[in-house]
This record gives sequence, C-alpha cells and structure tokens, in this order.
Amino acid sequence: MPRPPSTPGPPDLLIGPFSRRPNRPPHPFTVSRLHELQPVCFQTAPRKHLYMLVLHTLDALTLVSHPNTKWRDLLPPLEGEQPWWASLYSTLVPRPIGDISWRLLHGAVSMGTYLAQFNPIPDTCPFCGVRETLVHIYLECTRLQPLFRLLTNLLLRFWLHFSPHLFIYALPIHGLTKSRDLLVNLLLALAKMAIYKTRARRLADGVSCDCGAIFRSSVHSHIRAAFLWAASTDSLDAFEEWWGSLLSISIRLPLF
Ligand SMILES: [Zn+2]
Repeated sequence: MPRPPSTPGPPDLLIGPFSRRPNRPPHPFTVSRLHELQPVCFQTAPRKHLYMLVLHTLDALTLVSHPNTKWRDLLPPLEGEQPWWASLYSTLVPRPIGDISWRLLHGAVSMGTYLAQFNPIPDTCPFCGVRETLVHIYLECTRLQPLFRLLTNLLLRFWLHFSPHLFIYALPIHGLTKSRDLLVNLLLALAKMAIYKTRARRLADGVSCDCGAIFRSSVHSHIRAAFLWAASTDSLDAFEEWWGSLLSISIRLPLF
C-alpha cells in the first residue's frame, strides 16, 4: 500500500486471495470460502484468519468441487431456503447435540449402505428391513412417523410448519423471534439425537427404543436442568421467558 515518503516504519502489507479467473463467479454452494476472504493487514491479521487463508488457498481445487452439504441433492432447498449452519449451535444446544446435526448436514453419519461396502453386514435398516440410506434413517423410516407427528403438533403451536427441509436445514434465527427460534432449533436437535441414539443402541444390542420417548425424556431433562439452574441463581423470570411457551404447550399436548 503506497504511503507518503515521510511516514516512518515499514509499509503496510496486505494479504488476501488472488483469483486466477476473476471473471468467473464462485459456485454459491461450494465448501470453499476463498471468495469470501477479504485482504487484511498482514501485521495485525488474526492467526485464525491467516490459517483459513492458507488452508483454503492450498486446498482450493479440492474444496471448490465439494458442495457444502449432500442434502442439496437429496433434499433440494426450496426457494429462499439454505442450510442454517449457525443455527445448529446456540446457548440452548449443547455442543455434542449440535455436533450430531452438523454431521448429519454434512452426511457424515454411519449408514448401512456405506458400511456394507467394507464390512460383512447387511445394508438394510435394523428396524424395518428397507435399504438403509441417509434419507431413510432420518426422514423416511416408519418408526420416525410418531416422532414427526409430535414435532408437527409442537411446531404448530409456534406457528411453524414442520417439514423435512426445516428438520435438516434448521430454522434461521431472527432478532424479533430469537427465543422461539432458539427453542425450535433445540427441539429439532434433540429429535435428531433421539434418532441417532436409538439406532446406535439397536445396532449395538438389538434393543428397540422408541425415539419419540427418548425425545420426550430429553426435552424433560433440559427443562428440569434449566429450572434447577434458574432456581439456584434466582433467575426464574428468565426461565419463564425462555421456556414458558414450551411448558404451556406441554399442558395441552402429551409431551411429558
Ligand atoms: Zn427403517
């Protein structure tokens, strides 16, 4: 960056990506973030930014050919929809539970059709015997339908329509409806965890768990833990503000 000759010290150095094909627009759904990185001052740039810049430059050709989620093909987003990665984690969603949603969105969860390529195991669903794909495990298996009916009823109370897209891509968090959006994303994350855990248990020891029951007990545990915390920190008003809508729903629905 040019400076007046009288300025003391070395000149500022800017570092940023340099596109070889500046006229070609980046693919909107690629996992590469090179096109988003702006030039920054090398002397003061955060290490994280420099790491990101180097990583995405060295692996640019590999990353640019990868879509950011497998579900773009399996469940094409409707108009205005996209995966809401930032909604997968929040103050309400603990990291291990958010990780399951994150892995699911990446397609990085085990499934029969994949494992059967390397191990002498059937590629069928352990619950219903249908060929076990990612879509089958998390959307289509008949065992999931009672859980989805419960989620449909719950979300209607929040004036939301439950759909496979909402389940997989999560709900964007807006300022005006922030507490509702965080709560709904927690419910969706707990439902995915219930599906994940009941399947893992079925494969491990053959036990048939009701994923709807696991979901209900997870929600109950979360509310109980939040209540005990609020009671011990004298913040019951905040508890009521966060959880009041869900608790009033639970009185009308057989949630607990
Ligand atoms: Zn099945």
